[in-house]
Amino acid sequence: MDATRHDAFFLDLDGTLIETTPTPDEARATPRVRDVLFRLARATDGATMIVSGRAIAKVDELLGLRLPVAGQHGAEMRFLNPAFDDIRIGISGYDRLLARCAGIARTCGDARVEAKNPTIALHLSRADPAFDRLLQKVGRLAAASHGRLACIVAHNVVELRPADIHKGMAVAGAAMFGPFGGRRPIFAGNDTPDIDGFRAAEARGGFGIAVGTPQPGARHLLASPDALLDALDAVAGSA
Ligand SMILES: [Mg+2]
Repeated sequence: MDATRHDAFFLDLDGTLIETTPTPDEARATPRVRDVLFRLARATDGATMIVSGRAIAKVDELLGLRLPVAGQHGAEMRFLNPAFDDIRIGISGYDRLLARCAGIARTCGDARVEAKNPTIALHLSRADPAFDRLLQKVGRLAAASHGRLACIVAHNVVELRPADIHKGMAVAGAAMFGPFGGRRPIFAGNDTPDIDGFRAAEARGGFGIAVGTPQPGARHLLASPDALLDALDAVAGSA
């Protein structure tokens, strides 16, 4: 099967292509990750997109490679196609929201606020006894937003994002643009925020691949980022 001509790849980064680390700043991409992504992007004529909770600038820094990226769960999208403008979604009252989150963080152990605009991440180890309190308080903030904000929890992080922005939207959005349009979407991810991506891929005739642990909506399971790299390597190599 000539997968590379007909498929579009949407790949989460942390825990999917690279191993998760206690804090996001410790994460590193190995030369193999860069090599496989570079070759996959070439083999798919550019239909390879990183879909991450990280901001695009952080994804670039971590990978040392410029690829199409849906950053902040799709609130920022960069296609690397001169025919399509980059997308950046904003929310009103961001500074006020950020101040509220900073206030919450001060009452929750070592929680650290990351302002990405429009999303806000509150980083804290799940092993920290204050994690549940952090989740509860951020959840209340989202609940009081009248449906404007969603609270999502992933590995050592609680995040606030605009409610209508999620990784499934990033897949649907990319499908409107070349070279992603008309291809079968394959979404690989490892965590709760990726579930929307799996479902969007499935709804468009593609499928999801969970990495590490089974995830709702993902049809396939691979044991680790290394196993995913092996599979992507084979696809890139067959081009
Ligand atoms: Mg992940």
